[in-house]
Amino acid sequence: MRLTILGSGTNVHPTRAAAGYLVQTDQTLLLDFGPRTLMNLIKTGVDRHRITHVLFSHFHADHFSDFITFFFDAMIFTKYQGGKRPPLTVIGPPGTRSLFKTLFATLPGFSRAPFGVTLKEVDDRPFWIGRTKVLPRRVTHSPRLHCLGYRLEYSGKVLAYSGDSQYCTSLVRLCGDADLAVLDCSFPANQPGPVHLHAGQCGQVAHEAGVGQLILSHFYPIADQYDVKAQAGERYEGTIIVVGYSPSSRGSPPKISINLVRRDILTGSSSFA
Ligand SMILES: [Zn+2]
Ligand SMILES: [Zn+2]
Repeated sequence: MRLTILGSGTNVHPTRAAAGYLVQTDQTLLLDFGPRTLMNLIKTGVDRHRITHVLFSHFHADHFSDFITFFFDAMIFTKYQGGKRPPLTVIGPPGTRSLFKTLFATLPGFSRAPFGVTLKEVDDRPFWIGRTKVLPRRVTHSPRLHCLGYRLEYSGKVLAYSGDSQYCTSLVRLCGDADLAVLDCSFPANQPGPVHLHAGQCGQVAHEAGVGQLILSHFYPIADQYDVKAQAGERYEGTIIVVGYSPSSRGSPPKISINLVRRDILTGSSSFA
């Protein structure tokens, strides 16, 4: 299982793309598809037309908006450029079907894609995509939103992704004994904000869940102004990875690509995220 972080920021951030994660198992999947992550996907060299499943945590724009550009591009590719692509499955919480049906019925040309499109609503029940097991779990984010975290299991390795979440026992269960957890670190512990974790809580979740490694992601600009790694480390003794930009690395925000075939980190290279 390989995870490539396409974006570790939020909706409007000066240096980071918003939420988006490429997961490669026996499948090529995306977790969320926020603004600026499509260009980062292209930079990975992975053929975007091989993406078969997009799993959304929820539909705040910072997790969603590049899907529209991606889908429009897929239609041009298949309709006018002789391209072929496999069917696409869009997965998300309750409400996914009505949202996409409305989008496809409203945006010009979207209803006539020459490839299969399946809409799938999920809620706390495991399912399989090929040999990749996916467990969605509702987490607590904004009061009226159904937000999912995802737990992916493949070939003996486990990746947990919080989506957007506050501290909640559901999130701790989602992350239980995961080899790697990617958590919403919107705020520094000394300046917490609403409906998201802060760095100290990320450490708390990682500690309580017993995860192998912790990735801090989904940064608001304020989180870049403090040592969130040290803050998370007050509660969590394992390896902590802070994706991308920090004040000391301004100008060369790294992309990070992690291979979970082995438990250790193999690569962390070049620019973006
Ligand atoms: Zn959100
Ligand atoms: Zn978000």
